Amino acid sequence: MGSATAPGATATTGPALLEVTDLVKHYRIRSGGSMAHSGPPLRAVDGVSFRVAAGETLGLVGESGGGKTTVGLSVLRLIRPSGGSVTFEGRDVLAAGRTEMKALRQRMQIVFQDPIGALDPRKSIGDSVGEGLRIQGLASRAQSHQRAAEVLDRVGLTAAQSRSLPHELSGGQLQRVGIARALALDPRLVVCDEPVSALDVSIQAQIINLLLDLQAERGLAYLFIAHDLALVRHISDRVAVMYLGRIVESAPAGELFDNPAHPYTRALLSAVPADHPAAARQRIVLRGEIPSATAPQRGCPFAPRCPDAMAKCSEETPEFKEIAPGRWAACFLND
Ligand code: SF4
Repeated sequence: MGSATAPGATATTGPALLEVTDLVKHYRIRSGGSMAHSGPPLRAVDGVSFRVAAGETLGLVGESGGGKTTVGLSVLRLIRPSGGSVTFEGRDVLAAGRTEMKALRQRMQIVFQDPIGALDPRKSIGDSVGEGLRIQGLASRAQSHQRAAEVLDRVGLTAAQSRSLPHELSGGQLQRVGIARALALDPRLVVCDEPVSALDVSIQAQIINLLLDLQAERGLAYLFIAHDLALVRHISDRVAVMYLGRIVESAPAGELFDNPAHPYTRALLSAVPADHPAAARQRIVLRGEIPSATAPQRGCPFAPRCPDAMAKCSEETPEFKEIAPGRWAACFLND
């Protein structure tokens, strides 16, 4: 799949708030339990580039193990990338010192799939939501409580729930707390890492609508990581599809869903239930599991599972290139 670093590979609809270029995250794996010898690196993220504009949502999709969460954590520097660059509001995130990083963290927040994991079980919801403001030195205890009450009210939680402990709330209420924690710091970008995949479908819709309302009110940008493509279509302006640590297709959401250019995208979409029977796609069943990201690669990484693979797919690597204005894909079928 060659370079995913082409300028404009995932062109935004406006000036970039977040710009990620050639992001790499490799993990060293010990082989045979020996500390002396290490095996080939696991290429969790292998040259990913994209941009997100203010107020825009970029959906990042693909199967588990494709590298989506690693990208999200790397963007916020919650893990250290092995290479590449991350620029937010023109500032180099990976080179930022302690003080600058603290300021950046205020502007870049994350909502996790499992919000309870980020909450202290002994602290009230109100305390946990105001905690970020106190850590950042932006508010006194009283001010942080006031701010927490405001954002909890905005996400639909009551004053009584603000005094509750995490175990006293439902999954949907806890995800509202996760969103309130992010909002309390008044961010510009929120990385949403599978924020609704653990919730019931009816609750999912409520949380997605809340995220959309907040975006409209506050001009938030989202990097929305999910494997549920129907949800991603609903919330995203543009979508990037990841496979084995690389982006294999990116396009405006409607175009990607209506006319996917990469066989992997087509296979993912074929599993999405259609709104109407006439719009149903024939299910494409991918052979095998997503291969190990430690295996040496020759040719197109998707070739072992691709229903359209040709002879040259096992020999040559397709370049990630613009196939139409604003549409990028890495597949010989678009040549
Ligand atoms: Fe890769 Fe070939 Fe399939 Fe395109 S057709 S995705 S290049 S294996």
